[in-house]
Order: sequence, then C-alpha cells, then structure tokens
Amino acid sequence: MRRFIVPFRLTKENVVLTEDLAHRILHVLRMKVGDPVVLCDLKGNEWLAEISAVGANSVQLKLVEPISFGHQPKVEITLFQGIPKGEKMDFIVQKATELGIQKIVPMFTKRTVVQLSPEKAKSKRERWQRIATAATEQCGGRTVPEISIPTSFKQAVDEASFSDVWLLFYEASEHPLNKAIEFGENLSSVAIMVGPEGGFELSEVEMAKRKGAKVVSLGKRILRTETAAIVAVAIVLYELGLLS
Ligand code: SAH
Repeated sequence: MRRFIVPFRLTKENVVLTEDLAHRILHVLRMKVGDPVVLCDLKGNEWLAEISAVGANSVQLKLVEPISFGHQPKVEITLFQGIPKGEKMDFIVQKATELGIQKIVPMFTKRTVVQLSPEKAKSKRERWQRIATAATEQCGGRTVPEISIPTSFKQAVDEASFSDVWLLFYEASEHPLNKAIEFGENLSSVAIMVGPEGGFELSEVEMAKRKGAKVVSLGKRILRTETAAIVAVAIVLYELGLLS
C-alpha cells in the first residue's frame, strides 16, 4: 500500500492534504475516492487511511485505524557532517537516511568551501529535510531524521560532547575504529563527525579530542567525504545491531 509522510501530527481527526502530496496522489498516482493509503507523521505515528473526497488540488482522507504509535529508536545516532561542495550533501542526507540515521547536523569547518547566508542556510536546510522525508518514504523508514540548520564547528563540538560516544573520523589517526571502541548495551547516543572534502584541520581535531572525541580511522585509504560518511554511519549502525 502507498505510504505518505505528512508534515503535521496525526491524531484521530480526518486530514486534508494540499500542494505536493495532493498533486502526487491525484495527478501522479491517479488515486480515487475509496483508495486506502498509509499515512505517517514525523513522530512515527502511522494510520491506515482512506481517501474520502477529492478537490481540484486537495485530498481529504478519513483515518481508519492506527497501525503504530511513535517509535523511539533505542540509540540516537547523529551525523555531524562538514558541508561539502555541490550536491554531495544531498547524497549524504539521502543515503544516511536510508541507513537509519536519526539526525544530521551540517557544519561549517575551517576547510568548508561553501558559504551560506542565513537565508540560504535556511533554504538548504529545508531542501535537505525534504530529501530526508522522501528517502524515508522510499525506504519504508518509520521516522524522518531531523536536519539541523547548518552550524559552526564549535557549536557542533558542544552538541556532540553530550553524546555517550563521539567519534571523529580522521584519516591521519592511528586508531582504527574497530580497536578504538566497544559498543556496549547501554548507549543512548552516538555522534559521528566527518570532515568536508579538504578534511579537518589539526587544530579542530585537537579541540574535539580535548572535549572528549575519540579520533578514529577507517584505514589507510583516504575516502571521499561522502564515502566516509556513509561507511561510518553503516558501521556504527551495524555494531549497534540496528541493521538487523
Ligand atoms: N584531508 C584529506 C582528505 C579528507 S577526506 C585530503 O584532502 O587529503 C574527507 C573526510 O572524510 C575526512 O575529514 C574524514 O572525516 C573522512 N575520511 C576520509 N578517509 C578517512 C579515513 N581513512 N579514516 C577516517 N576518516 C576518513
């Protein structure tokens, strides 16, 4: 059955969809009154629903029965990603979402080339949030990862320091990931930090280390930032048993 993620909280009430979602239901999928669908909100509440009326560009749905309520993953995994150039960030957001990340914090580091005005940063965040929502729908995920507004490296460091485990991926580290960490049972948050194309500066690595980051390597090969991000997320999820 078709599954749609709506940008508002689903309660018992019937809902009306407009704009993009209505367009997809009416004009792309050509669905009709009486067709069943699954609606899901950003909190992971899922309902079986049925199209009850259609307008020129709106669809009314009756919520039939709840399928599941709010799903809180056991461990919150956040990817702090040095913003790369071009469309690489779109790719990282899409793939990390497919794998099951819960939050992505785009960050400006010393070697970030991209400059974003506050308005541009806001519109980029919205774009990445839309990509995350579409990827969640496509892969059948339960909750849509939250994409933060791009932040400074310093702010990212402050936020990451609250995690139970904080891994900073650094190609020059002599500590391979598999030796640096034991993923225990009672972790509730993991922070993953990956630099932009140019990597982290040593001063950034040292600052993070002072604040509690474990600086780890993925081997001797230097991976592109998007490869490193996806590999790091996949390994951490695997180690935590979240790819099963
Ligand atoms: N500074 C380097 C490459 C940076 S690669 C250079 O220009 O030669 C971009 C990011 O990917 C890095 O900041 C790091 O977070 C991650 N990365 C790439 N290869 C890695 C490896 N072998 N181990 C750990 N992290 C790696």
